[in-house]
Amino acid sequence: MTHIAARDTVLRERENSVSSANTAVPITVAYGDGIGPEIMEATLRILQASGASLAIETIDIGERVYARGFSAGIEPGAWDSLRRTKVFLKAPITTPQGGGFKSLNVTVRKTLGLYANVRPCVSYHPFVRTKHPKMDVVIVRENEEDTYGGIEHRQTDEVVQCLKLITRPGCEKIVRYAFEYARANNRKKVTCFTKDNIMKLTDGLFHKVFDEIGAEYPELEREHWIVDIGSAKLADTPEAFDVIVMPNLYGDILSDVAAQIAGSVGLAGSSNIGSEVAMFEAIHGSAPRRAGQNLANPSGLLLGGVMMLVHIGQVEAAARVHNAWLKTIEDGIHTYDIYSEGVSSKKVGTREFADAVIARLGQLPTSLRPVEYRAPAAHVAAPPAAAAHAKKATVGVDVFLHWSRGDRNPNELAGLLQPLTNGALSLSMISNRGTKVWPDGLPETFRTDHWRCRFEATGGREVSHRDIAALLSKAADAGLDFIKTENLCTFDGEPGYSRGQGQ
Ligand code: NAD
Repeated sequence: MTHIAARDTVLRERENSVSSANTAVPITVAYGDGIGPEIMEATLRILQASGASLAIETIDIGERVYARGFSAGIEPGAWDSLRRTKVFLKAPITTPQGGGFKSLNVTVRKTLGLYANVRPCVSYHPFVRTKHPKMDVVIVRENEEDTYGGIEHRQTDEVVQCLKLITRPGCEKIVRYAFEYARANNRKKVTCFTKDNIMKLTDGLFHKVFDEIGAEYPELEREHWIVDIGSAKLADTPEAFDVIVMPNLYGDILSDVAAQIAGSVGLAGSSNIGSEVAMFEAIHGSAPRRAGQNLANPSGLLLGGVMMLVHIGQVEAAARVHNAWLKTIEDGIHTYDIYSEGVSSKKVGTREFADAVIARLGQLPTSLRPVEYRAPAAHVAAPPAAAAHAKKATVGVDVFLHWSRGDRNPNELAGLLQPLTNGALSLSMISNRGTKVWPDGLPETFRTDHWRCRFEATGGREVSHRDIAALLSKAADAGLDFIKTENLCTFDGEPGYSRGQGQ
C-alpha cells in the first residue's frame, strides 16, 4: 500500500468512527503542574462547549509522579491509556532540578515514536504586539534523531563527541509529513533548512529526500535554504516563509525563535505526531509563580487542543473554537501577559477568558483572518518503503587515535603508522579535528590529542574485515591507543564517507 493509500484508509476509518455512531473520541488528558490544571480546565470547558465529542481519560504526570520515585515523571499504568486512546492532550509540567530525573517530554516523544513536532507561529497584529505583523509560519521539526539520540563519548583527554544520526526513513517520514500538512492546510510553499554545504552526507540526505518527495507535490512551491542565512531571513522577514521543515537541532532552536518573534510565545500550541499516537500541548512551561491565581493565559493549550480536534477529524469544532478564540483576541479580551493599554479592552483571568471564548462560539473574527479546516490534516505516515540494498564495498578504514606525544608532530605519527600498512591497506591521510595535517600539513594548524588516520585499500580494491582487524592488531602491538574505527564504504560505487580538507 502506498503512503497516500494508507493515509486515506486510516483517515476514512477515523471519519467513519466519528460520524457514523457520533461516538465520543477517547483522549488522554494530563493536568500537569503549576498553571497546568487551570489552563487545562479552561481548555476542556471550551472544547466541550464547542460541540467536540470527547471521552476523557485522565492520567497523572509530572511533579507528584517524580516525587513518587518514577524517574521520567510518568507511571507505568499511564502508558496503557496513551496506547489505547492514541491521543494525548498534555498541560505543562515542572521538571525537577538536579540529576536522576529524565525529561518526561523526551521520554513520551521517543517511546511513542512522535516523529513530527509541528508549531504554527502566527502574529495577531494589531491585537498582540509584534515586530512582524504578517507572520504566519509553521515549523515542522524532526523529533527523533539527529544529535538527540544522546549518543556521546569522551574519547581522549581533550575530545568528546556527539553522534549525529540521520536516517533515510526518518527523513522520509518528516518530509512527507511536511508536504502532506501543507497540502491539507492549503499552504503554498514548503522550505527546507539544512547545513548540507558542510554536512554533505547527513544534512545532504535530508535535503535529497526533500527534493525527491517534494517532486510528488507539484502544486506546492519548494525551496531550500542553508540554515544560517535561512534563519537570518526568518528572523528578519518571516512573511517570506510558509511551512519550514528541518532536522531536529535546527528545528528545536528555530521553533522557539519563530514563536518568540511572532510576539506570542504564550499563545502558541504544538503537536507531536507519530504513526500511531499524537500529543498536543502549549509550548510554554508550567509558570509556577503564576499558579493558582487565575492569571494564566490558556491560549497555547487551547490552540494545541484545536490541533488535536483537527487530528481526530472533528474539524467543525476545531474551526468553531479557533474562530471564537480569534474573535476574543480581536475584541481585546486579554489575560495579563498580552494586555496592553490602548489596545486591550478588558483584562481578564483564566476562567473569564474561557467564558469569553465560549460566549463567542459560532462567531467569526472580523479583522483577523478566520480559519477553516476542510479535512483532517494529514498525520499518518505509513512506514517508508525499506531502502533497496545497495552494493556495498569496504575500501578502507578511518582509525581514530588518542595520541599526544611531544609536540604532536603529525610526521612523527605518520612514521609510527606507516609500518602498520599491510598488503591490503596503506596510510593515505591524517587529519586533526577534520583538518588534514599529513601529508603536506602546515605547522600552524592547531592539533588536539585526537587523530583520524585514514587507511585506504591499495589500488582501490575491496578490503575485508580481517584486513582491518589485522591492521588494528598491529596498532595494538605498537602500543597505539585507537579509540574507534569507521569503515570506509562505497554504496553502488558512491563513496559513503567525507573526503578532503575540512570534512
Ligand atoms: P515558563 O514557560 O513556564 O514561563 C516563562 C514565563 O512566561 C514566566 O514569566 C511565566 O509567568 C510566563 N508564562 C508562561 N506561560 C504563561 C501563560 N500561559 N500565561 C501567562 N504567562 C505565562 O518557563 P520556565 O519558567 O522557564 O519553566 C517553568 C517550568 O516549566 C520548568 O520546570 C520547566 O522545566 C517547565 N517546562 C515544561 C514544559 C512542558 O511541559 N512542555 C515546557 C517548558 C518548560
